[in-house]
Amino acid sequence: MDTRFFTTWIEGIAKAVAENREHLTALDAAIGDADHGANLDRGFTAVREALAAAPPDSPGKALTLTGTTLIRKVGGASGPLYGTAFRQMGSVLGSAPDVTPSDLATALEAAVAGVRKLGGATEGDKTLLDALAPAAGALRRAVQNGTKTEDALDAALTAAREGARATIPLQARKGRASYLGERSIGHEDPGAASTVLILAALRDAAGG
Ligand code: ADP
Ligand code: MG
Ligand code: MG
Repeated sequence: MDTRFFTTWIEGIAKAVAENREHLTALDAAIGDADHGANLDRGFTAVREALAAAPPDSPGKALTLTGTTLIRKVGGASGPLYGTAFRQMGSVLGSAPDVTPSDLATALEAAVAGVRKLGGATEGDKTLLDALAPAAGALRRAVQNGTKTEDALDAALTAAREGARATIPLQARKGRASYLGERSIGHEDPGAASTVLILAALRDAAGG
């Protein structure tokens, strides 16, 4: 996977976030402050502009620029959290021109660790971690089994989807939704839903 693969992924996220802006906002309206779609759309629009203004020459640089831009442009919880996730991935990949599926699994694991450290959440707290952590785990297992890239990314996407769906019956223990206590039960976490879009764009970038 080369720089082009990663810029295709990031462009795909920007497109998916724009298309699903209202859906993400509706999810956040139920258990938050109705800005998750707007936050991410603003962030990834700025990311698109940043990539166009200074085309990165390695996968790691593309991811680091994405993370830095999200941190700069998104005020909500999701900006620093996703920003950290992308910066961690960029940092793991360094300036290598090509990334193996195993490298990508290591990068996603670093993203999970970064989100965990910054946000203090664990799985089951009804956050984006509930989609991201299973996706990283599924990718790692698929890579260890020698699964081909498209199928490994399919497995990661499926795990993210299942993780996001599993947030519905949970009570939120982190972020704004936690202020609602038991009233947060019965709604999908907006950040888990946007993580599914990110993993779907990753799967799409692999084609096949
Ligand atoms: P805000 O809550 O500041 O309005 P957003 O609406 O953009 O920010 O993002 C909300 C999402 O951020 C939540 O749905 C949840 O997935 C994620 N989130 C919030 N706090 C945390 C945390 N401490 N750790 C991990 N994810 C979190
Ligand atoms: Mg919000
Ligand atoms: Mg907000």
